[in-house]
Amino acid sequence: MKRSETHERGETSLSRAELIERMVAILGAGGVVSERAQLRTYECDGLASHRVIPSLVLLPENVEQIEAVVRLCHQERIPFVARGSGTGLSGGALPVEDGMLIVTARMNRIVEVDIPNQRVVVEPGVTNLSVTTEVAPEGYYYAPDPSSQLVCSIGGNVAENSGGAHCLKYGFTTNHVTGLEVVLPDGGRVHLGGKTADPPGYDLMGAFVGSEGTLGIATLVTLRILRQPETVQTMLAAFSSPDEAGGAVSGIIAAGIIPAAVEMMDTLAIQAAEATVKAGYPLGAGAILIVELDGPAAEVEHQFREVEGICRSNGASELRIALDADERTRIWKGRKAAFAAMGRISPAYYVQDGVIPRTALPVVLRKISALATDHGLRVANVFHAGDGNLHPLVLYDDAAKGEAERAETVATEILRICIAQGGSITGEHGVGTDKKDDMPKMFTVDDLDTMQRLRCAFDPNGVCNPGKIFPTPRLCGEVPGPHRPHPLQTAGLAEIF
Ligand SMILES: Cc1cc2nc3c(=O)[nH]c(=O)nc-3n(C[C@H](O)[C@H](O)[C@H](O)COP(=O)(O)OP(=O)(O)OC[C@H]3O[C@@H](n4cnc5c(N)ncnc54)[C@H](O)[C@@H]3O)c2cc1C
Repeated sequence: MKRSETHERGETSLSRAELIERMVAILGAGGVVSERAQLRTYECDGLASHRVIPSLVLLPENVEQIEAVVRLCHQERIPFVARGSGTGLSGGALPVEDGMLIVTARMNRIVEVDIPNQRVVVEPGVTNLSVTTEVAPEGYYYAPDPSSQLVCSIGGNVAENSGGAHCLKYGFTTNHVTGLEVVLPDGGRVHLGGKTADPPGYDLMGAFVGSEGTLGIATLVTLRILRQPETVQTMLAAFSSPDEAGGAVSGIIAAGIIPAAVEMMDTLAIQAAEATVKAGYPLGAGAILIVELDGPAAEVEHQFREVEGICRSNGASELRIALDADERTRIWKGRKAAFAAMGRISPAYYVQDGVIPRTALPVVLRKISALATDHGLRVANVFHAGDGNLHPLVLYDDAAKGEAERAETVATEILRICIAQGGSITGEHGVGTDKKDDMPKMFTVDDLDTMQRLRCAFDPNGVCNPGKIFPTPRLCGEVPGPHRPHPLQTAGLAEIF
């Protein structure tokens, strides 16, 4: 890929009017949004505190249009950002000023359903849940299930390597994508992976999944689908504290049981969800666990009894077992609505996302609670307890002076706690714009340079979703920084936290 010598990134020779004309020639008038009022609809994703109005929003309907648009952006050094449904929570789809926002919503066709090979080929704008809806009559489903699955797109899932409640047993998006068609940042089209497993050569598909829209635009995705399990059993267990619930989670895993899902919600999260969807959660509980087992009926029945015993021995005061599909749906509805439900108990909230080793759950939850008290704020916890993926929701009043800043401080401190406990700055929501300045807390300059070299191999002009993931963006070819030891080697944990 050759670097263009004509102009720097963002310095196109085309006027905006000429650009609109060129884009309309590619996409038709209905495929180009240029009015300021309409552009504002796209100024942010789920991280609404970051807003940028793009120069144009483009609505392609096929891969040829994406190729033509991206080729023009490459030639003219115009930055562009892909957007699926805009539910991302880290600002990954935040537009670049003077840049193009390429929205894949119109590319929403399920292209092929190949049941014998357990594969489905979809365009990137297809929503997560519609894959399962499509194959359910055949007895199959698509396992990764972000809580936003009704709305979020497969393209966004690929870019964020999204997870969900059932990823504890079945793995993240990366474990369910076998092939990709990608339009590279210079407008070329490549195919990575395919329908079969383990293709030879570098695992470029592995690199692309989770690259947050910085290596190109996925235009076709081949997904692995799974056979529906013979039985699913779901239980809701109430505890007097998150400590007790955490003890039950450790007990279940230590017993060698891998549930399909183990989700935890604390008192505030229970109250918010109950106020919104009336799932029948016990309002007085200090924490609830939703434990789901699936598989062959005999095995599930046996393990379910074991799980019941472990919950009781860890202090569960109430156990509710879903007797039918309706009750199971009701239990899950509360959990899936939990983020949005925060609006019931707080004018504003900040969703944090971090990972810790499962065993550190009790200590981390205590530290978060102390942190919240110190800053005079409330933090609700709702998370994937089985794999230690926390989602603390820092509640604040945006009309109260200084509270938004205090909430941001608490959210940042929560990440420090996660890192100090051997965890990570993000579990499934990505780095995006939000956490790029946190990357040096986990990675050395050399680590980051290595990632940057990969990015440059795909995008030498630095036009594809620039300003995301990396704290100090450089143009490709700039001299990498000097070697420095890993932050966790030089700073004792006490210094980090
Ligand atoms: C209520 C709520 C609950 C959520 N629950 C979960 C959860 O349980 N698990 C989880 O992992 N996440 C969750 N999320 C976060 C979010 O839904 C996921 O990150 C999702 O995958 C984003 O998909 P999207 O289509 O909205 O992508 P967008 O927000 O539009 O974009 C996300 C990123 O993907 C890139 N991108 C989009 N399409 C493409 C493409 N075709 N090619 C290349 N890059 C592309 C964008 O540039 C951006 O960097 C939740 C969000 C909300 C609001």
